[in-house]
Amino acid sequence: MKEMKTIGVLTSGGDAPGMNAAIRAVVRAGVNSGMHVLGIHNGYTGLMKLDMKEMDMREVSDTLHRGGTILGSARCLEFKKPEVVKSTAEQAKENGIDGLVVIGGDGSFRGARDLSLAGLPTIGLPGTIDNDIDCTDYTIGYDTALNTVSDCIDKIRDTTLSHNRCTFVEVMGKDAGYIALSAGIAGGAEAILIPEQKFDIQKDLVQMIMDCRARGKYHYIIVIAEGIGNTQEIADKTEELLRTEHDIELETKVCILGHIQRGGRPTVKDRITASQMGVHAVDLLKQGIGNRVVVKRDGKITDLDILEGLNMKKTIDADMLRLADILSL
Ligand code: ADP
Repeated sequence: MKEMKTIGVLTSGGDAPGMNAAIRAVVRAGVNSGMHVLGIHNGYTGLMKLDMKEMDMREVSDTLHRGGTILGSARCLEFKKPEVVKSTAEQAKENGIDGLVVIGGDGSFRGARDLSLAGLPTIGLPGTIDNDIDCTDYTIGYDTALNTVSDCIDKIRDTTLSHNRCTFVEVMGKDAGYIALSAGIAGGAEAILIPEQKFDIQKDLVQMIMDCRARGKYHYIIVIAEGIGNTQEIADKTEELLRTEHDIELETKVCILGHIQRGGRPTVKDRITASQMGVHAVDLLKQGIGNRVVVKRDGKITDLDILEGLNMKKTIDADMLRLADILSL
């Protein structure tokens, strides 16, 4: 086994609060183990250009509480080409990089696997607000995003209530509904629409609103995952069906939370999970182990072969769906 003297760390894909806590953990665990740690700027783009800087303990001081990523992140389409990955791995090794930690999502893990196969031992850490990485129960940034969304829903509720309106709150999550489901439950939404579950505008929105009215409720929050489609169209259609079929004038509003969900101070949960995962990644590299992804499964931090992880499929929690159903009425 070749002793690792120098490791690199980079953040890739969409940023997420807690990435800095992960970088800090990798730097401090690495330096504590006697290694040099290079901070690589702007994801795989920086690795290709060798745009990097040695990081010492102080370099990561006062970063734990900051959102975003101090290393910068990027989407680098070039990196999907096998020949580019191969030459980048060779160039990194020639420049003294013995191992690498990549903090990002599924796409970044594909790059990490290809780098490992090309001879540069690489560890993936799950960093995305969407929690849409199948091999892990938890991804760095998810809890912070949930808290941001739930805080926004509380504010939206005040004004929705004052005007007896129906507000459609669109949240992020790409093709997954994890943010919508959890934040919807936390925010007491009347309905939660997620891509994993078919929805019917008549039954899930129009009839739901009629049922609520029958019980004396005249304001409604609908949390809708971005993967569902055009939120404005769904809101307009709901308003139209209520008017034409039930003679009810209900004012609807659409609130797209957007990138506000990506920023902000990471929560304690994100700081601690990121710290645990960062130290675990360095423990693996210290043993000369690459091609692994660090995950949280059944409450424990552990690791899996990257390809095995990429081939897993997680499903939306049926208990959470049931909870949403019971509590929304
Ligand atoms: P995420 O990592 O958050 O899923 P992306 O899908 O944008 O975000 O991927 C981040 C980066 O990972 C891409 O810009 C690219 O550099 C690299 N990447 C994505 N897919 C692959 C792939 N199939 N092979 C190699 N690298 C990839």
